[in-house]
Amino acid sequence: RVAGSKADISREKSAILFEKAKKYFPGGVNSPVRAFKSVYGTPLFIEKGDGCFLWDADGNQFIDFCCSWGPLILGHNHPKIREAVISTLQHGLSFGAPTALENELAELILKNNKYIQKLRFVSSGTEAVMSAIRLARGYTKRDKIIKFEGCYHGHSDSLLVKAGSGLVTFGETSSLGVPKAFADETVVIGLNDKEALERAFAEFKEEIAAVIIEGIPANNGLLMQNKEYIEFLRKITSDHGSLLIFDEVITGFRLGFEGAAAYYDVHPDIITYGKIIGGGMPVGAYGSSEEIMGYISPDGGVYQAGTLSGNPVAMAAGIAQLSELNKPGFYKELNKKAAEFSASIQRYASAKNYKVRVFNVGSIFWIAFTDKDNIQAASDIEAESMDKYKVMHRELLNRGVYLGPSGYEVGFVSAAHSKIELEKAKRAIFESLDVVF
Ligand code: PLP
Repeated sequence: RVAGSKADISREKSAILFEKAKKYFPGGVNSPVRAFKSVYGTPLFIEKGDGCFLWDADGNQFIDFCCSWGPLILGHNHPKIREAVISTLQHGLSFGAPTALENELAELILKNNKYIQKLRFVSSGTEAVMSAIRLARGYTKRDKIIKFEGCYHGHSDSLLVKAGSGLVTFGETSSLGVPKAFADETVVIGLNDKEALERAFAEFKEEIAAVIIEGIPANNGLLMQNKEYIEFLRKITSDHGSLLIFDEVITGFRLGFEGAAAYYDVHPDIITYGKIIGGGMPVGAYGSSEEIMGYISPDGGVYQAGTLSGNPVAMAAGIAQLSELNKPGFYKELNKKAAEFSASIQRYASAKNYKVRVFNVGSIFWIAFTDKDNIQAASDIEAESMDKYKVMHRELLNRGVYLGPSGYEVGFVSAAHSKIELEKAKRAIFESLDVVF
């Protein structure tokens, strides 16, 4: 510990729960990053959330910027979502048959989104992207896909691949259990590298079903892309009869109701959604034109199904959340708050000459330990910067601020973060940066 560091909060009860969890779950968790492997200490077991606050098993209170990894754009336990869930579940939890609630959520989305004409609900972002890839392959009758290093698209086989050292490489599997033959159908290239993409298209021409990119890559830091590069993706895919897929699991309903497609004003062929769309319940979706969606079963030959797809309680939560987001001025106010928050952290760090850059788009922010003003590819991130993040993360928990437990994770400002809490969080961040440097 170094000068200025604050005494650690108690994690006694969390530690007992974690020991028990380790008996039941690999690594003690049901999703790997929750294990706090790249930050200090035992993971915190959460007991409740309300507004922008979280409380753990030891009674510690935090201002939360992880927001369940993005879904909670209105904060925790929003009264409208809670009421919608409670009133819906009184009629039963699941029917495995169509309900009016699916129509209602679809209508709310499609009436306010000019980029897709039809959609299909699933239960997670992973499922949405996996299905979108199958649709692209079924539609184009081609097998290969191109993905970018640093973009995460869920844990399905053909997307769990990473780049090798070359500019155009077949993905090496980045998980045991992914057959090499699957990974061979995935070509991985660096972001923001036009020539690599041109080379990939020159080499595989008629074999490429789709290029997939996160709306704004936000799973390996926040890697802002130029509009011009995204327009280039649109053009090169159209020129070669390949589809362009925007994975908007994070950016959908986050950057605005029409997500990254509207942010760039670029019309992709397929869009995937998750996180915010379900208001905190497990919902994902993929959407496209009437023509392309016509390939999905039962009308078309691309099979995709789900026992709990369109679950009524989850639909009700989604309707309640998206109805709030669709109110005039919602995004303007939220994004302004996040921009001011990010800018004031940057001002503090710059005044002290700290090697910190705060990247921000919409209500997403990323505190990076770098002096680069522009980080557009995963390879631009210095691995040592993660050590600094680890120190900051510990100091922030000790000052009542909860950020994602990895320096590659972005933070989210929600509508529930009031001025007062943002001021408190800023002060905690300033003090923590003082400890780091
Ligand atoms: N796509 C993106 C861009 C994501 O950020 C994620 C999850 O973080 C996924 C897909 C997978 O979504 P899920 O975790 O709901 O399966």
